[in-house]
Parts: sequence; C-alpha cells; structure tokens
Amino acid sequence: MTTSNIHTLIIGLDAVDPGIVERMSEAGKLPNLGEFIRKDGYSRFAVVNPPQSEISWTSIATGLNPGGHGMFDFVHRDPASYALNVSLLPTKKSILGTSFTYPHNAPTIFHQAVQDGFPATSLWWPATFPAHLESPVQTIPGLGVPDIQGRLGVGAAYSVDPGTKDEKFKTPVESLKRIGKGRYSGLLKGPAEQKGTRFLEATLEFQLDVFDDQSARIIIGKQTLTLTKGKWSPIFEIAFKIGFLANLNAITRVVMNQVEPEPKLYFLPLQIHPLHSPWPYATPPGFVKQTWNSCGSFLSLGWPQDTTGLEEGWITDEQFLQLCDSIFNTRRNIFLYHLKNFKEGLFANVFDSLDRVQHMFLRDRPDVIESWYKRFDDLVGLAVQLGKSKGWQDLRVIVVSDHGFTRFDQKVHLNRWLFDQGYLMLKPENPEHSLRNADWSKTRAYAVGLNSLYLNLQGRESEGCVSADQGDILCEELREKLLALKGPDDKQAIQQVSLQKEAFDGPMTEYGPDLLVGYAPGYRASAQTGLGAWENSLFESNSDHWGSDHCIAPEAVPGVLFCNQGLKNFPHPSYRDMPALAIGKNVENKGAIKPPPTSGNEDQKIVEERLRSLGYL
Ligand SMILES: [Zn+2]
Repeated sequence: MTTSNIHTLIIGLDAVDPGIVERMSEAGKLPNLGEFIRKDGYSRFAVVNPPQSEISWTSIATGLNPGGHGMFDFVHRDPASYALNVSLLPTKKSILGTSFTYPHNAPTIFHQAVQDGFPATSLWWPATFPAHLESPVQTIPGLGVPDIQGRLGVGAAYSVDPGTKDEKFKTPVESLKRIGKGRYSGLLKGPAEQKGTRFLEATLEFQLDVFDDQSARIIIGKQTLTLTKGKWSPIFEIAFKIGFLANLNAITRVVMNQVEPEPKLYFLPLQIHPLHSPWPYATPPGFVKQTWNSCGSFLSLGWPQDTTGLEEGWITDEQFLQLCDSIFNTRRNIFLYHLKNFKEGLFANVFDSLDRVQHMFLRDRPDVIESWYKRFDDLVGLAVQLGKSKGWQDLRVIVVSDHGFTRFDQKVHLNRWLFDQGYLMLKPENPEHSLRNADWSKTRAYAVGLNSLYLNLQGRESEGCVSADQGDILCEELREKLLALKGPDDKQAIQQVSLQKEAFDGPMTEYGPDLLVGYAPGYRASAQTGLGAWENSLFESNSDHWGSDHCIAPEAVPGVLFCNQGLKNFPHPSYRDMPALAIGKNVENKGAIKPPPTSGNEDQKIVEERLRSLGYL
C-alpha cells in the first residue's frame, strides 16, 4: 500500500486474548481467523504500557505511547494540588459552566487519512468524545462518552422500600410510591445544575401500572411501554424539562425484576440521545442521523454494558449477557451498513463488549467466552466475504486487539505498602487512609490510578520533599523492593516496574508517573489505590464478580494482530507499527504540544464520583 491509495478496514476487537485465539484456532473453532494464521497474517501484538483500553486504543490510533499523546492512566493527578483527574473525560470551565474537553490532542490515523484526501470513519473508538466538530472524520465515539449526568455510567434502582443507602453501592435506590391499587409512581433524576449554593435536579415522573404477577405498564412522558418480568424493555426516549423552553432528551432501557409483593425496577444509566446531545457527540451531524434513522436506536454511553448493575446485583448474569448481545448485534448492523458503502480510505470499528464480558465471566464461564470468540470469527469472515463480493482486491483487512486478559485474584493496596514502608506518611490527627490526609512534608511517594506511582518531587509537586538527585535513587530503591514483593501465594506480585524514561518517549513524558507498576497475572491495583486510598492489609482476595482484568504488566497481556496481506514486514508488531500498517505512513504532528488536560477546578467529590462510575474503580 502507498499513501496514494488507502483502502483499509480495521476491525478492533477489544480484549481479544492471543492464548484463547491460538487454542481455539488449533482446535478448528475459528475458521476465518485461522485462515489469516495459515497465510502468515497473524502475530501476537505488543501493547502499550499501561495496557488500559483508552490508552492502548489511543496508541493504536496514533502510533505513540503516553509520552506522545498524554494519556498515562485512567486517573491523573494535578501536582499543584494533588487533585485527581479523569484522563478519559477531562473538563474545562467557561462562562457557560463546566463542559467536557478532548482527552488528548494528538493527531490520529483518521486525521492523517483525511489530510491525505481520503474519507475516514471511526466507530466506537475509545477516547474520541467530545467530537471535534470541525473534523470531517465520520465518528461515533466509544469508551469515554458520559451519561447525561456527566458520569461514566450509573443506573438507578426503584423500590417501594429503598432502605438506607449502602455506601459500597454506586447505584442509587430511589423510591417507588404506591398511589393506588397496583399503581406506583417514581421520579427519574436527570442532570443537576448548580444555582448558587443549591443543586437543582431535573426530574421526570413516571407511572407504573401492574397488570398481574408477570407484567406491567410504564408511562413516562409520551411513552407507554409494556414490561414483562425479567425482560429488558427496548431503548426508549425521554425528555427532561430544563428551564421554561428547553428539553434535554435522553435514552435508556428498564427491566422489572420483581412484581410481587411490590415491584422493583432497574433503569440503565440515562444516556445522551445521539441526535439531541447537550455536548458535541458525533461528526458530521448528518452521519449520526443517517446511522440512527437507517439502523435504529443504539445506546450511546461509552460503557453501556452495565457491569456495575451486575456487580451490585441489580441485574442477573443472563440479563447482563442479553444486554451485551443486543449491544453487539446493533453495532454489528451499523458496521455492516456503513461497510457496504465503503469504497476507499480508512474504515474502523471497535467492538468492546468482549472486554466487559471477560471482566465478569472469564474466571467461571469458558462457554460464554468461547461463544464470543466464535462470534468475532463469524464477523471477520463476513467482512472479508463482503470485500470479495465487492471485488475489492486491494482491501487491507486488519484485526487488532488492545490487550489480552487474565485472572484477577488479589487486589493490591499499593498505598498501604508505601505507608508500611515509610514512604507515605499521614497527618496524625486524621486516621483516614487516603492521600487527602497525607503529610506531604514527609511523604516521598504515592500511588493513584491503576498503574501509576509518583514521587513527591520538589519543584513539581506543590509540597514536594524529594530533591531531583534523590529522585533517581528513590525510583531504583522502590523498583527493587516492589519486584521483591511476594503475594499470599508466595509468588512475585509485580513482574515489571518501569521508570518514566523507559516506558515513555515523546514531548509529554515528563507529565507521566515516575514509575509504572506492572502487576503479575492474578494481581491488580485495588479500586482504592486508583483513588489514592488504601485498606488495612496490603493484599485482599478478590471475591467480586469482576474477576479478571488486564491493567497489569503489558508483556503479560499481549493483544492479537491479523492482516489479510500478511505481516512479514512487521516481525514483532506493536502499536508503533499501526499507522504504517493502516495508512502506509506515520502520523504527522505539526500542532503545538499542550500539557495533558485536567479536570480544572471541578469539585473533587464530583471528579471522584465520575472516576468510581466506571467499573475499574
Ligand atoms: Zn477492560
């Protein structure tokens, strides 16, 4: 391929693991991907450090590691205030209030393709929200799209007796009011707006009429839906009144899991209506409209597979899997619809449901996992067949995953270790195990995010106490001790610790963590570590439904790469090779380098709630 001719299809399969692919393919269970393997068009794929989806897909799209694109971990911190930021969904303040800003500004293969005069389409690619309104790239964004409350996705449960809020649950339990025989009402809660010191929440009343022990009717605004016990409703639209004239449209689905003695409802997070988004959602406007009108409605949330609803028991295993099925089927139809019209340029689609399914089921349900790999094999076969039937001799088909997968048996409270070893000190007056309570004058190192460890460096951190010369020595000391750390199974808990300069290259390197902690398979940072907190013990066994993960050492979770035109020019392929493979050249970066975006001066409570609203934390 030369840049005078781009005709490339990228099928992004989030979290496809090479071990599973190779085993199933040897058993003859993946005939279409097996064909690529037989023709030397398969390799394990070296993924970026840290192997987190939003970072890895950004590296695949740019050919850069975090030192080049500026996304280092799901959680960043502001060295001036030690405040936490959501790297995937940074915000900025303007006279109109708080709005979302781009998670990175690095040019991608999509931008490069259009700059070279080709059309480009990017479907469900992570970290592409908010939309670059001026961009001609046809984009529907993936991971990172918020719900209408600006979180990464929290549903709502409704019950006649909501009880008191359990702090360990992220999902609010709202009240269903009995207003007649078999008749109930409830209030859906929309976005909150700050007016002075008060928060005004937009609400929308609904009515539920129970017919019998299996069915009911729900009336919300102009919508009337019949609900059958245990079955998801279709996607439906609702509208909140905001002010006198404006409406805020949203979409959701609801399931009624109990009817007697009193009904219980669960709503998916209220999501942006793609045609009426309060924030720039997709580009160009006609593209998303055409998709919606031609292919039907689709969930817009960046993480619509409701792992939190399943983790907290609001939905069952089967309901979660049905939801993932319907999300995949809808997106597959959208993919095939646009693929049929694809004549030249770059066309890419990331399918991310397997990542969510593996987080929840890799440990215990190999049958479910295998069915997903077969489904992807069918999809790849269908796309290749479509290309052949169109006579596209030159079509380059690339299938790639952003990381593999492994078990997650032990949670590591990394800040507990730093505290026990005397690197992290607390103010004596407050016993809370959190960086909020750190004595920065004596704290030399601290952890936030899933893989990041920072020194408390003089001249960088506002209350830094480690000098630049001590910094290098301290990094080596920490690395040596962390690599020697043994878990409850007496095995190495951390298999790789990388210095900033080893893990990253590019103009943003200095904004990254000083050390990247690469856990061994079976181990991962605890959710508390992500938010700069810890518990009493260093290790905690993981009994969550979320039983598998990938935010560990990148060598332990390689991805896969397939190409129908062979991979002989790419003997050890990594994210760095993706631009050459996809568009025949590297991405040109002529723009000014800006530091990574932050959450501005947004309230830390809101930021933490946003961080916790994604399943990892
Ligand atoms: Zn994941």
